[in-house]
Amino acid sequence: MRRTTGGVIATLFLSVLLAACGHEHTWVAATCTEPATCSKCGETDGEPLGHTWSEATCTVPKTCSVCGEVEGEALGHDWEPATHEAPETCRRCGETRGTPLLFDIPLGFAGDYAFGLFEAYNTPAEENGLGDTMIWFNATYDAVSTIDMPDVKPGMQAFVALSKDEGGNTWVLQLDWNEYEPIDKFVAMQGHQLCVAGMYLGYSEVYQAPAVLAEKLFDRTTGDIVYSTWFSDAF
Ligand SMILES: [Zn+2]
Ligand SMILES: [Zn+2]
Ligand SMILES: [Zn+2]
Repeated sequence: MRRTTGGVIATLFLSVLLAACGHEHTWVAATCTEPATCSKCGETDGEPLGHTWSEATCTVPKTCSVCGEVEGEALGHDWEPATHEAPETCRRCGETRGTPLLFDIPLGFAGDYAFGLFEAYNTPAEENGLGDTMIWFNATYDAVSTIDMPDVKPGMQAFVALSKDEGGNTWVLQLDWNEYEPIDKFVAMQGHQLCVAGMYLGYSEVYQAPAVLAEKLFDRTTGDIVYSTWFSDAF
């Protein structure tokens, strides 16, 4: 009985207040954290909507898709180690980083070739005295071009590639001639990490870089010896 009386009194009181206030509520829609609220008097209606959470991902924390509120931290990638076939790969989102593992240069591949230190070979052979040295280095090239050799034989072409070693230095690779190998063989190796073994021909004035007659190529991407001249077996 008392409660009913109290309720009646409260309702009366509110009516008096409304009358005193004398406005229709202007409702601002509910948000994640606030209920619908009258912008004039601050009266609220109902409950806040609550956040609409998207689960955390590798790079983004748990986030409300409505208001953008974040909670906690991004998960970070869950890296699977690189293999010869695939680079480091996130088990969760598939993102990759780096490159697949390179194959080791097989024992004996460059056995009788000295490591070609660029600085030593980047001068005319008359100066460095290293002409005809057998050397090896790791390098990659992006394109193969042809040089016509009409003086040797009509129709004869030499294949040449400007390669970059691991220090970013340019070496001219004199590859085979069209008489002996199809150019496709060398085009197929474009962009591959190679170990090149061959004979230092001297400094090329044309290319402004040391030139090497490639005798053996090992593809560190596939683990295959992809080219070997008949005469390189002697070294
Ligand atoms: Zn109001
Ligand atoms: Zn929210
Ligand atoms: Zn990830």
